[in-house]
Amino acid sequence: MKQKKKKKTKEEKTQKTIAGDLGSFSDRDCPFHGKLKIRGRVFEGKVEKKFPRRVVIEFERMIYVRKYERYAKEKTRIHARLPDCMKEEVNVGDIIKVQECRPLSKIIHFVVIKKIKGGEGK
Ligand SMILES: [Zn+2]
Repeated sequence: MKQKKKKKTKEEKTQKTIAGDLGSFSDRDCPFHGKLKIRGRVFEGKVEKKFPRRVVIEFERMIYVRKYERYAKEKTRIHARLPDCMKEEVNVGDIIKVQECRPLSKIIHFVVIKKIKGGEGK
């Protein structure tokens, strides 16, 4: 197992070098390898959609409805930047952690920082 892990990191490193040759653009928005600073709010949620550089996560929160003096469930969706180093790790159905960062686009101001649980009990 340990040997396998080592191999993986080596592969990742080579990939990064290639990306670097292409102008070091692809990994710039990574909180661990790039220059992206993370701060602010942290959320956990389920991956609903996956795009080449972005994921959509969804989670439920309780809001108080004054009229009925009760709580109601409300779903929140967040678009988060998916760093290249986590591209293969994160898939639809996974539980992941995202943290706030500077606005990367009109809808993205969060970045994936950790995978908590795989989709099919992994
Ligand atoms: Zn990275």
